[in-house]
Amino acid sequence: MGSGVPLVISFGEMLIDFVPDTSGVSLAESQGFLKAPGGAPANVACAITKLGGSSAFIGKVGDDEFGKMLADILKKNGVNTEGVCFDTEARTALAFVTLRKDGEREFMFYRNPSADMLLKESELKMDLIKKAKIFHYGSISLIAEPCRSAHLAAMKAARAAGALLSYDPNLRIPLWPSPEAARSGIKSIWNEADFIKVSDNEVEFLTQGDAEDEKVVLSLWHDKLKMLIVTDGEKGCRYFSKKFKGKVPGFSVKAIDTTGAGDSFVGSLLLSVAKDSSIFDDEGKLREALTLANASGAICTTQKGAIPALPTMPEVQAFISKSKAN
Ligand code: ADP
Repeated sequence: MGSGVPLVISFGEMLIDFVPDTSGVSLAESQGFLKAPGGAPANVACAITKLGGSSAFIGKVGDDEFGKMLADILKKNGVNTEGVCFDTEARTALAFVTLRKDGEREFMFYRNPSADMLLKESELKMDLIKKAKIFHYGSISLIAEPCRSAHLAAMKAARAAGALLSYDPNLRIPLWPSPEAARSGIKSIWNEADFIKVSDNEVEFLTQGDAEDEKVVLSLWHDKLKMLIVTDGEKGCRYFSKKFKGKVPGFSVKAIDTTGAGDSFVGSLLLSVAKDSSIFDDEGKLREALTLANASGAICTTQKGAIPALPTMPEVQAFISKSKAN
């Protein structure tokens, strides 16, 4: 764990992605699959420690070889795992994912149910939650009970202890009963967050409007919100706060695999907030933090996988200096 930096807790799912060992094939055509650790909240926790911050992951995996492997990956990355639970009944979640030649993504999930869906409120390490400066979460943990109730209870405890709440919905439509259920499920905790990060695609899905239109984006604003960030892939990001708004351009890289770019971006931004929460009120500092976040996201796309592609702070700084020089 990073020394002296306030703790960020990331709550939600950790699972194994199986990706074909050759690109451009359908799941049925693929001969071999490579296993990659996944789950956006777990990626965010790793992004923070890799950059030199302090993070803990809270969630449940199966009491099986894959669950133990995932917990080990968190530990090796310096993430506090006191809040990780192991389920003796259900398995660690699996997702088979491919990008076919025609550009369509195919998903197959093994969650019938998976261990992450079975996290119970009584299993939450409340002492750990109370130590968080920032409590971060997604929306996949809202899909099924008992995890949904555990998620809501954890948020409530973090808020009561004075933590800032950070939300990145990470839309995965096929995991919800219907697109409408996804929309209303994601919105059900919208007004609790201090800070929300959405991608341009998520803005389109949630509002059913044009994500480039500022009015459309601002329809997602709520009174308690300190900051709304929209990520625009290679174009970078836009920021909206009570006092200011603007955009920070992205970095040009040869992207190989964009998995985890958003999580790398969020991890970097949350670390900046953990170090200095006045960035919400200081546009110069915020723009600096978003430059770091854009660089962290961009670097993550230059290697396969999410966690192995996360950068360290010296790597991010060297990347920014090199980009400025060019
Ligand atoms: P998500 O992964 O949540 O869909 P994005 O694809 O918008 O989010 O990526 C998050 C951030 O990562 C972007 O705001 C940008 O800074 C960086 N990024 C993503 N894709 C690229 C890319 N192809 N080139 C450069 N930076 C990228």
